[in-house]
Amino acid sequence: MKMLASESEFRVKVAVRVRPFLPREKTHEQKSCIAIHPQTNQIVLGDRRTFKYDFILGPKTLQEELYRTSVEPMLNNVFDGYNVTIFAYGQTGSGKTYTMTGGNILSIGEKDYGIIPRAVKTIFNTIQNRPDCRITISASYLEIYKDDIIDLLDVNDKDIDVRDDAAGNTVVIGASEHRCDSIDDVVSLLKKGSNVRHTGATHMNDESSRSHAIFTLYIEQRLHDKNPNTNTVQASFDALVKPLQTTFDESYLSAKLHFVDLAGSERVARTQNTGERFQESIRINSGLLALGNVVSALSDPKKRTGGHIPYRDSKITRLLKDSLGGNAKTLMITCVSPCTADLDESLNALKYAQRAS
Ligand code: ADP
Ligand code: MG
Repeated sequence: MKMLASESEFRVKVAVRVRPFLPREKTHEQKSCIAIHPQTNQIVLGDRRTFKYDFILGPKTLQEELYRTSVEPMLNNVFDGYNVTIFAYGQTGSGKTYTMTGGNILSIGEKDYGIIPRAVKTIFNTIQNRPDCRITISASYLEIYKDDIIDLLDVNDKDIDVRDDAAGNTVVIGASEHRCDSIDDVVSLLKKGSNVRHTGATHMNDESSRSHAIFTLYIEQRLHDKNPNTNTVQASFDALVKPLQTTFDESYLSAKLHFVDLAGSERVARTQNTGERFQESIRINSGLLALGNVVSALSDPKKRTGGHIPYRDSKITRLLKDSLGGNAKTLMITCVSPCTADLDESLNALKYAQRAS
């Protein structure tokens, strides 16, 4: 297979974000078990475990800085027709939702906006600078809970299924898609979906920590054919469509941008659940396990180009199949707590992240 870009360009990128101490942890005088060496991109856990990643973001990192350094550079790829997936991984309480949406999306201000509203802002700014194209944005917001897919933007009971179409695109059948014309449209969808997620949680023993939430933007570009006698616009558009494997015609380009707030990575042994809840914990871990296996296989150039990538092992990897590997770009943001009491979970999360890189 001819490679379209250098190997390293398609490697899964990994960022680690260490959150600050929370007010209640400060009052209990929790000690930090993490040291960061920004010059070498290294993080040291306890007194000796050292890890290295693409980006390491310490407790003082603001939302704006995290976005600018690790996420914004990936968005150009979306306009070039690549699918992009951004995950947040980590134990419950480590900062995944804060990083993705921005804490409590129902009440936050712009300074605390997480990745999703910031990415949307960048996308709408880009659209304004592209008068040669008509670009439309729509969104869906799904939750995977116990192997079921739930539509957070349309709560009517219905079956949602994942299939591959003839061109190799993954299609989610039955999920609602909502046109977005502004950042406000997106924020109100996030609010609506998060509300549904939290209402469910009070009934179902904190369901949200054991489910994956997937917010997807669909970006479609259509070239305006204003003056068929000049080739300049067409030429620049040709350059744009080149990397695409699945172009339908020359004047159309589509891409998906997934933001995934994964289930809590805490181990089953620590939940001390029995019966039904214990079963749930195992299932969630198997989704994270399957995702870890896929991402790790994708990091191995031999497996990625020729070998078997185990997408079929879980709902989440099936749903993201055309957006992980192949010609897709992936960023995994691993969130960790600074507390010594969480050292074991942080070590597991850092090891999981290391398999990906
Ligand atoms: P998770 O989604 O992983 O369970 P949350 O995102 O809900 O964790 O974070 C847990 C708590 O920590 C929340 O109160 C959140 O506002 C706070 N928090 C997380 N990360 C940060 C951060 N980088 N800066 C400030 N507060 C944070
Ligand atoms: Mg959360």
